[in-house]
Amino acid sequence: MNRTGTRVMLVFGDPIAHSLSPLMQNAALQKAGVNAVYGACRVPKEQIGAAVAAVRLLNVWGVNLTVPLKEVVCPFLDELDPAAQLIGAVNTIVNRDGHLVGYNTDVYGVRRTLDLDLGFDPAGKRVMILGAGGASRAAIVALCQAGAASLGIANRTVARAETLIAEFAPAFPKTAFHACSLSSLDLGNGLKKADLLINATSVGLKGDRFVDFPWPALPDHAPVLDIVYSTEETSFVAAAKRHGHMATGGLGMLAAQGEKAFELWTGIAPQEWLMRSCLNAAQGKPTLLPMEGNLLAGMIGS
Ligand code: NAP
Repeated sequence: MNRTGTRVMLVFGDPIAHSLSPLMQNAALQKAGVNAVYGACRVPKEQIGAAVAAVRLLNVWGVNLTVPLKEVVCPFLDELDPAAQLIGAVNTIVNRDGHLVGYNTDVYGVRRTLDLDLGFDPAGKRVMILGAGGASRAAIVALCQAGAASLGIANRTVARAETLIAEFAPAFPKTAFHACSLSSLDLGNGLKKADLLINATSVGLKGDRFVDFPWPALPDHAPVLDIVYSTEETSFVAAAKRHGHMATGGLGMLAAQGEKAFELWTGIAPQEWLMRSCLNAAQGKPTLLPMEGNLLAGMIGS
């Protein structure tokens, strides 16, 4: 049991080599003077129970979860906070003396990136979300909690969008929901009145892109959030900008969900902008924290 000395935090996923979480979390731990390290482990979906047992055995302080583990981990935890319960997915585990509590900080991540990167307040607005998986569920909760007037859920498998709506509509009676397909005709109709467009599918993750996307239907004033993140500009963000929209990728959300997780584990807020600066540095952009240059360069190079 590691009850003294350096504490351990981990991110589990499959694949995991691409994860930027160790970069930003280790920078924040170091800056805050917390005696802990953050590592990454590949955990295949069918091994999640064994991985959670190892968290208990080794007294791991905290864990992040990414694709494809956010939903399957739930039955192995002792408690879910209300947002994680509603979404049915956990991206952060806090180990409180062997009692494992699951949280979903992606909801905070969505709200924060809409505010900081797009200056968008969802209250009373109409939003089109592409996708009906875990990221879409977090976006739905974030937007409904912030008072969105209507949400369109467009998904390749329309039945999955309809199931999602049947599940969330009773919890958020003030928001109107509708489902549609990703065909250009259906989506074009849905986009006509949208004030915001969010891509919460995994399209773009592997360099793929939407074909025949009906960009001209989206009103000029509507900004675009691509939840998919990459150190390069995603194809969706590039296309949105080409069509004249303000657009941002998923790195702002990644930093914000990480900040909230850090706070849940350590009880302290990480230095403002530090995680974003790490991700900017990974993209080759200015870090916003020039004094941290050597620290970040060392971590990115390691
Ligand atoms: P998920 O639960 O597996 O859902 C994937 C969604 O993408 C489904 O709606 C699926 O549609 C759709 N999809 C997959 N391939 C498609 C294709 N070729 N054409 C059209 N639709 C397709 O995944 P998730 O957890 O929601 O994650 C989605 C993305 O968000 C991932 O890239 C993930 O890395 C990213 N993400 C980013 C952050 C962040 O902090 N920025 C946080 C969470 C997730 P079907 O239902 O028809 O299969």
